[in-house]
Amino acid sequence: MGLLALGTPLPWSEAKQHADYVREHGIEQLLHIWHRLKDRTGDRLLWGDEIEYLVISYDDESKNARLSLRQTEILQDLQADADERRRTPSREESPVAAGAESVNGTAAKVLEDGQTPQKNNEACIPVFHPEYGRYMLESTPGAPYGATLDDLLLVEGNMRFRRKLAKSRMKSHEVPLTLTSFPRLGAPGIFTDPYYPPGGGVARSLFLPDEITNEHVRFPTLTANIRRRRGSKVAINMPIYFDENTPKPFVDPTIPRDRNLWPEDANAREGAALDNHIYMDAMGFGMGCCCLQITFQACSVGEARRMYDAFVPVGPIMLALSAAAPIFRGWLSDVDCRWDVIAGSVDDRTAEERGVKPLQHDRFVIPKSRYDSVDCYIADTPSNRPEYNDNDMPIDPKIRDHLVERGMDKLLATHFAHLFIRDPIVIFEETLCQDDEKSSDHFENIQSTNWQTVRFKPPPPGSPIGWRVEFRSMEVQLTDYENAAFSVFIVLLTRAIMSLGLNFYLPISKVDENMHRAHRRDAINTQKFYFRKNLFDPKPGHPCDPSLDALSALPEDVSPRQPRSPVANGFGSHSREPSHCESSCSSHRPSRVPSPVRSDSTPSGPVEDEYDLFTINEIVNGSPERNFPGLIGVVRIYLDGLEKEGKVSAEVRKGIERSLELIRRRADGSLITLATYMRRFVHSHPAYKHDSAVTQEINYDLIKALDEIERGERPAPELLPEGWREGYDNKDGRWSQCCGAEEAKLDQQSASASDP
Ligand code: ADP
Ligand code: MG
Ligand code: MG
Ligand code: MG
Ligand code: MG
Ligand code: MG
Repeated sequence: MGLLALGTPLPWSEAKQHADYVREHGIEQLLHIWHRLKDRTGDRLLWGDEIEYLVISYDDESKNARLSLRQTEILQDLQADADERRRTPSREESPVAAGAESVNGTAAKVLEDGQTPQKNNEACIPVFHPEYGRYMLESTPGAPYGATLDDLLLVEGNMRFRRKLAKSRMKSHEVPLTLTSFPRLGAPGIFTDPYYPPGGGVARSLFLPDEITNEHVRFPTLTANIRRRRGSKVAINMPIYFDENTPKPFVDPTIPRDRNLWPEDANAREGAALDNHIYMDAMGFGMGCCCLQITFQACSVGEARRMYDAFVPVGPIMLALSAAAPIFRGWLSDVDCRWDVIAGSVDDRTAEERGVKPLQHDRFVIPKSRYDSVDCYIADTPSNRPEYNDNDMPIDPKIRDHLVERGMDKLLATHFAHLFIRDPIVIFEETLCQDDEKSSDHFENIQSTNWQTVRFKPPPPGSPIGWRVEFRSMEVQLTDYENAAFSVFIVLLTRAIMSLGLNFYLPISKVDENMHRAHRRDAINTQKFYFRKNLFDPKPGHPCDPSLDALSALPEDVSPRQPRSPVANGFGSHSREPSHCESSCSSHRPSRVPSPVRSDSTPSGPVEDEYDLFTINEIVNGSPERNFPGLIGVVRIYLDGLEKEGKVSAEVRKGIERSLELIRRRADGSLITLATYMRRFVHSHPAYKHDSAVTQEINYDLIKALDEIERGERPAPELLPEGWREGYDNKDGRWSQCCGAEEAKLDQQSASASDP
């Protein structure tokens, strides 16, 4: 969440009159940032995760697991706790770099330009943020991690500490659970604590009360204005999972089709609720889901653009690997992931924009929701062939031309001209008038309500923060061991991509197809995904060290086929950026790799020859027969290179291997996803009638079981590798020691609290 400005939000009828104004000034603000900072280089790698939690409230007497709506109180307590810690810093040194983005005005220190990473306590004063659901929390480390492999060992401990801290502010019947989607959100009966009946005037949902929404005025306004702009409630339909006793066709008996409380109640009767699907009708179903996101600061805008592009094809793969959302509104669905639910939950497109009615009043037919997969690549490198941007992607030509006239390159201008086809949904009357040189609020209004799989984040004006990229597709995992493993893997993958100059491009329409496949039940074992065949072809050139050529670090069996055709693709003249980021990247890559065999070739030939269908196992773990190293393979190449130079200690390598083991085994199917675990649990529950229904009783037992797994009280060897709790139990491992003293204090407090 960005800064939650207070003010008077405009209803849609008024906000829409200011839409052009906000867009125009948003673009001015972007141009100010662009001109000031496009040549900024030398920023260090900084990165940090975001984890979202459901606050579960147990009612053991009636065997019900509900969502606790105490977000506000819990956050206030956590804030008081953070303030207290800041006043009385503990003696213990935290080894994490200082410098968090100030999000709510109270966040940790921001790094001064050129400041070296320093050891201090900030990382152990985590930042907790509000989220859409009044039953949700979000946490980030108090300060981002830096560009050292050693920091990777701190991630799990820091996450665990954050969870304990959150838990310490909860009541004894409450727990923070990192579960992507609450199985009975919107199901009949009591699913919130306290109980509220569905049907408030904001969402007008047949299933959800308005009280599940964060009470900050921004959230109800977003909710209502999306509905108003669209002209109806959002309509999300996820396919039902047909079990042996599920009636066919499936006509959901839990939809109150006859309700007549709001005009929108008619939506369900008039076609919005599809048979054979689980119908959901409110923003809360999607924005009330939890995810795991990772943000990186790149050394320059060029590097950020390359990182962004490389992440795009990785997005669906990581979605499938992290799948954790198989149940919606009390029904088993035929998909394993949340993404499409969120996409539908904020789909503010009108009927004309959706192509349901001919264009008359609106400007564009828009193929996707504002929450969806990325629509275009943006890197200005020859390896980014124009053919890859093959999506039908509406842009505002006036905005693009204006950006180009004012000095932005066409590719990036096109990206923003696409984001800016959207209207601002929430406008605060008091902040309409801004100084475009100093503020980026209008820009962020549109930018941060384009929720795509990857986000390219320009530096906020007047801050020392550089160009950043956020990886956003992953579902949150049940344990911090897993959340750390996914984070560490993505961090190492970026390092491998940048250091080895890898090329992941494939047509963006194929990435979208992969997104669809990633949702399918047990996608890891049943689906094939498009991926680029040769990740080393051609090398785009690394701005941080053009002399680097890690190809020589490749083992024989994965060397790229040589030679490649040296024909240029005609994509502009800026084939390689000057080397200006050495210092920022040097600590994190092999510095001397012998015998460069760089080829200046840029690709030619049909794009269709560049990619193929792979299993997730092949994409992640590689395929010797296909001469494909796999994503873990390239990470290992990168690490082996560093290891040869003595830059990776045995302890660090061991910690990293703990993380890679999870990713490797999820991909090869020897461990299952949480989605599969949850399905199996439901199937084997004695009360399950094989009719796709996840009852209150089943849900209670499921949530308890998940909670027990997280606490290490219930073995789940099919889900987690042996030894996954090493970091929790072995206090000698460094991955258990981030904020160790603080954590010990919390342990003591909770032990004495539970003493009779
Ligand atoms: P948002 O909700 O807007 O995506 P958050 O502030 O919640 O962003 O999270 C951003 C993450 O990025 C945090 O983990 C934070 O530690 C990390 N971070 C903060 N500053 C930087 C920076 N300069 N570069 C990279 N990551 C950063
Ligand atoms: Mg956040
Ligand atoms: Mg933000
Ligand atoms: Mg969030
Ligand atoms: Mg985020
Ligand atoms: Mg889009």
